[in-house]
Amino acid sequence: MVLEYGSRLASGDAPAPGEVWLVGAGPGDPGLLTLRAASAIRGADLILHDALPERGVLRLAGPATRLEAVGKRRGHAPVPQAEINARLIAAARVGFRVVRLKGGDPFVFGRGGEEALALTAAGVPWRVVPGVTAGTAAPAAAGIPITHRGLASAVTFMTGHDETGALPDGLDWEVLGRADGTVAAFMALSRLDEVAVRLLAAGRDAATPVAVIARAGLPGQVAVRTTLGRCTLETRRAGLPTPALVVIGAAAGLPLAAEAPSGRTAAVAS
Ligand code: SAH
Repeated sequence: MVLEYGSRLASGDAPAPGEVWLVGAGPGDPGLLTLRAASAIRGADLILHDALPERGVLRLAGPATRLEAVGKRRGHAPVPQAEINARLIAAARVGFRVVRLKGGDPFVFGRGGEEALALTAAGVPWRVVPGVTAGTAAPAAAGIPITHRGLASAVTFMTGHDETGALPDGLDWEVLGRADGTVAAFMALSRLDEVAVRLLAAGRDAATPVAVIARAGLPGQVAVRTTLGRCTLETRRAGLPTPALVVIGAAAGLPLAAEAPSGRTAAVAS
């Protein structure tokens, strides 16, 4: 047994010189930043940030803060992970206060773990500022509680993409197919057909509610409400914007959706 008393969570207002903070930016709306994430953004010398769905959070940075975009952006090749790691290490070694800003939570499908390993190997001190993950915020934006007594006693966060872009091999579809769990699938829109087929084959009912929530908490938020049997077709037909999260399970069918803004229909019959 090993007893640990130290914490990897950041404390204070901003990274110390030579330190890297892996900071969660939440799902996009600056109001969903933690206080610590906001103060870290204000106090950083250098922010390496992903392609965030909204630039509002970056506006908190002071005029002296250098911002470098390293995420995938349309029309730009993504900066390779090894280069991001190298830039973080180099900036820390010259004494910058470094923030690595990521959408949602840095340790939920954000490669925060890979960066933390690289920083550790290089002997660079680092801390984490957890963020509000889209895995809970996007369902909430559609009025979906991801656990619900009697309907959903477990939640699984899964990704629709491994590093090659394919559905990951190691997923246990028998477990994901269990009726009383919610599945929240990140980066899964383009693989929704495969996800649905695998869940149906594992025994999930075709009538299982599915919600696909796009741009949660951002202008233009839109959700498709459908079922496992129809989600592939209906989601494709809706032509949703990104980013989008797929939520599968009985809790997605609770009658808790927001009223539509006037002039728009909440439900489109299909
Ligand atoms: N670390 C992030 C996830 C990064 S992977 C987190 O914890 O939220 C990127 C995926 O997150 C997107 O493909 C989408 O599935 C989801 N996502 C991020 N922001 C979102 C938003 N505002 N609305 C819906 N889905 C979102």
